[in-house]
Amino acid sequence: MAQLYYKYGTMNSGKTIEILKVAHNYEEQGKSVVIMTSAIDTRDGVGYVSSRIGMRRQAMAIEEDTDILGYIKNLPEKPFCILIDEAQFLKRHHVYDLARVVDELDVPVMAFGLKNDFRNELFEGSKHLLLLADKLDEIKTICQFCSKKATMVLRTDHGHPIYDGEQIQIGGNETYIPVCRKHYFNPPIH
Ligand SMILES: [Zn+2]
Repeated sequence: MAQLYYKYGTMNSGKTIEILKVAHNYEEQGKSVVIMTSAIDTRDGVGYVSSRIGMRRQAMAIEEDTDILGYIKNLPEKPFCILIDEAQFLKRHHVYDLARVVDELDVPVMAFGLKNDFRNELFEGSKHLLLLADKLDEIKTICQFCSKKATMVLRTDHGHPIYDGEQIQIGGNETYIPVCRKHYFNPPIH
């Protein structure tokens, strides 16, 4: 039975490599997959997924008005799996479409994304994936200041913690640090 699977974390590390690996495993068996990513993330050009070690491949860019269900339905061949990168940037209607891809088309969906932003609010895509997913998994990261699990993301700018501002800032000079709750509120930096 097809499932809607969501694997989330506090940082980007390793997600894309996992997506590319899963895609490779399917394709090695002659099974086609569809890779999608948010059109919001343009760091590597619109419609690409890339890892830090330089692996890169084309993906379908999800725009705000993209009809994901219609797109998958109209493919000449039903894919064996849908893989989604940067799932935190999806809109509510995208996530509901993905649930229908699973339930009505019987195609499994694996989405990867970040759970909370630096203000410690859920990203829209994450919120609805957490609500609708059949299976959840956490990408574990350790707090940069202690050995506890990182559950939050601290944004710093020139060494100062920042808790307010626009949710999505791509290409700026700020740094995002995985932290535990205690060190989110009281980071040992000044
Ligand atoms: Zn800590």
